[in-house]
Amino acid sequence: MKYSNVFPKTKKTAPTGAESVNHQLLVRAGFVDQLMAGSWTLLPLGFRVVTKINEIIREEMNAIGGQEMLMPLLHPKEIWNETGRWDKAAEILYKLKDSREHEYALSFTHEEIVMDLLRKHIQSYQDLPVAVYHFSTKFRNEPRARSGILRGREFMMKDLYSAHVSEEDLMEYYEKVKEAYKKIFKRLGFEIRVTEASGGVFTDKHTHEFQVLSDGGEDTIFYCGTCDWGVNKELMDEKIDTCPLCGKKDIRTGKSIEVGNIFPLGKWYAEKMKVSFTDETGQKKPVWFGSYGIGPTRVMGTAVEVSHDDRGIVWFPQIAPFAVHLVSLPGGEEKAHVLYETLQKNHVEVLWDDRKVSAGVKFGDADLIGIPLRLVVSAKTGDQIELKKRSEKEAKLIPLQAVMSTLTGT
Ligand SMILES: [Zn+2]
Repeated sequence: MKYSNVFPKTKKTAPTGAESVNHQLLVRAGFVDQLMAGSWTLLPLGFRVVTKINEIIREEMNAIGGQEMLMPLLHPKEIWNETGRWDKAAEILYKLKDSREHEYALSFTHEEIVMDLLRKHIQSYQDLPVAVYHFSTKFRNEPRARSGILRGREFMMKDLYSAHVSEEDLMEYYEKVKEAYKKIFKRLGFEIRVTEASGGVFTDKHTHEFQVLSDGGEDTIFYCGTCDWGVNKELMDEKIDTCPLCGKKDIRTGKSIEVGNIFPLGKWYAEKMKVSFTDETGQKKPVWFGSYGIGPTRVMGTAVEVSHDDRGIVWFPQIAPFAVHLVSLPGGEEKAHVLYETLQKNHVEVLWDDRKVSAGVKFGDADLIGIPLRLVVSAKTGDQIELKKRSEKEAKLIPLQAVMSTLTGT
């Protein structure tokens, strides 16, 4: 894509009141736009990043048998009353009335909706297990919508739900999802800490959170520096110094961002909503249920929080909006054009800054936008290309042919 066509362009300064790094950089670089507190547009560059995040999540969900679908966001009051969460979750639920006085909620999660699907479509043990997921918008009435796109009133979420014949089967699948989540966050580029946490308005059982250590985080976790034990501070009455898992005196404290969570919900939802199956002996039993979430827009914000410098974003290559940022300077236009066409033909995603602006402006924008590889062609570079990784300081001159064959694999 040519940068001259990208909407919108970069901004010199961050919006007033933008405190968090992800807010400042994502707005300045043209990835997101704020409509109101906690409400964001994913602009074309931001949408490219989230699409890549979603694709990684999708691959790993499909690998553990998840089936993708799409559920509605406007829910009738009656279904939330079945579990009592119309009242219990009143603080975060957006409620509305239509002109005929019917009451609805804007979805903040989909347990009740999946339960309703199950009771309509599941009969016997032979219909189980089931694992379904979707990517969709969630609404939460956050009293303090801040931290940029980390905490929104409306945001994207991938939520997976699974139903099983027994607790054993549920917990086996729960562990499978835990491993899939570890894989996802590793592929996304994060170093993750899995911590125990409370289930909030979802369950009274302990659950697991996937936390990324970051100064921009709102959570505080205790974690072991020797093994992978961790716990959310909200669960601890007092600070401990010995690891309950490995016994080492290596407990550390850190600020962190929660990017995913998994809930073993048990039979509670099935009992409330009368969702049952007949087992092999003909007996009716409630299904065992779990739910599992990842917030892709929050993942994007977290990536910026943990990977940036004073000049801008430093995208992990696997979620960068483009693989290559091509900069043409006077005398290099023709060569840039050939390079651009060749890269595109070979399916290398390239952003070409073809504008008639100074080298300084182009370099500044390249650093701010944060694409992993910058290529510069000018009258000065001759038969060579100046190549610089966003994560490194030094640029190198490399023969054009060598760069092409490396990038296109030819
Ligand atoms: Zn330990």
